[in-house]
Amino acid sequence: MYNQSLKQLSTGLRNKAFSSVELSHYFLQRIKRFDGDLNSVITLNEEAALQSAAQADKSISMGEAGLLTGIPLLHKDIFCTEGLRTSCGSKMLDNFIAPYNATAVEKLAQAGAVMLGKTNMDEFAMGSSNETSFYGGVKNPWNLQTVPGGSSGGSAAAVAARLAPLASGTDTGGSIRQPAAFCGITGIKPTYGRVSRYGMIAFASSLDQGGAMAKSAEDAAIMLQSMSGFDEKDSTSVDRPVDDLLAHLDRPIKGLTIGLPKEFFSDDLDAGIAEKIEQAIDAIKSAGATIKEISLPNINLSVPAYYVVAPAECSANLSRFDGVRFGYRCEEPKDLEDLYKRSRGEGFGDEVKRRIMIGAYVLSAGYYDAYYKKAQQVRRLIQQDFARAFKDVDIIASATAPSVAFAAGEKKDDPVSMYLSDIFTIGVNLAGLPGMSVPCGFVDDKPVGLQLIGNYFEEARLLNVAHQYQQLTDWHLRVPAGYEQE
Ligand code: GLN
Repeated sequence: MYNQSLKQLSTGLRNKAFSSVELSHYFLQRIKRFDGDLNSVITLNEEAALQSAAQADKSISMGEAGLLTGIPLLHKDIFCTEGLRTSCGSKMLDNFIAPYNATAVEKLAQAGAVMLGKTNMDEFAMGSSNETSFYGGVKNPWNLQTVPGGSSGGSAAAVAARLAPLASGTDTGGSIRQPAAFCGITGIKPTYGRVSRYGMIAFASSLDQGGAMAKSAEDAAIMLQSMSGFDEKDSTSVDRPVDDLLAHLDRPIKGLTIGLPKEFFSDDLDAGIAEKIEQAIDAIKSAGATIKEISLPNINLSVPAYYVVAPAECSANLSRFDGVRFGYRCEEPKDLEDLYKRSRGEGFGDEVKRRIMIGAYVLSAGYYDAYYKKAQQVRRLIQQDFARAFKDVDIIASATAPSVAFAAGEKKDDPVSMYLSDIFTIGVNLAGLPGMSVPCGFVDDKPVGLQLIGNYFEEARLLNVAHQYQQLTDWHLRVPAGYEQE
């Protein structure tokens, strides 16, 4: 049951092979049985989930079911969920019960999906290993000594261990794709503006984008389809129709041109990973695609530019957590200033504080031109690199991450080496493009991800290429040892 595709589960529900209440109960039991080791789920929604499953069963009986009706899923704890704790992985919001649903949550609920709970994450989505969470790190089900990636590491680990068929994620610099790669699952971050950010707690607003994490491209397409669309409550939401993502999956990819950026295939790339990526590209080539070397000359500036822009935006966004309106408040403040200082000092973890301080610094008078303005100029150059590349190619491919999952603790005290885990993903956010990660093999028994990058609003094409690749390979169906019992 745990490894069935969404379509299979949906057929099972409609044929009454099992009910949504049974299916939801089954996955809730898996969470209870396996998550003690993993720590991927931080809030369970058991009672309400079984109620919405019963509701879904009624819709199914009345013949009103869509593909997601009655399907269990998990939400990253960055998405506001009405009446349920929404912590963003932080002590600051440990006591926060959201008064409304994020648009993405609402849309999936409208489609009949059943929310089982909320997944662990790096605090305020800042991190690449899930180790910055107030609730402790998440373990990677492929190897419990290693991290699941971040910041959507809880979602990735949960889907990899088959604790739920689907989970939501967000990606500001790689937080859907890098954990998807580390955990051997499929994850897609759509074009900036495709999924509403309303109710998605803001980290860096010009980069944050919600997306889907699932076993396969087909399942991810079904989930993303429901999450996408214009939302007047998000001023950066794009008012344009959503393509039929499922209808495009079966298109042959013959004649497509895949670009390989030479900067992403340098000697720095781990040889084992390079080999897996080459094999994946060969498979795509065998399906009729043409391969072309391209160049993204400014891409090596993406990590430094990001670590100016993202902290700058986070320092503004996180100023709302002041101990006054919601979230953590220190005990017995002496005066207003003491209230601010201690609430923020005690409520935020180290990485969040580091980012707020960098952000405040790069935005301050006298440094703004040297850092923030310069970073925005570099960002434009990176966008132009991609625009030039997409004149010649349909899709860009690379490794998702420069390494496989690393050991817990290995990079915890070395922020710069942690930041470099996103060297292949961050440029995509700076440009606002859609990107995804697809499992493509193992190095040292740890999953490797193939990154596919598309032009603006080309989610359908990305998912098409990923789906065609998954017709030729079975990496996406592999389940970590120990999690394959019913
Ligand atoms: N790892 C990157 C960071 O720490 C990206 C995080 C994300 O995409 N949310 O900022």
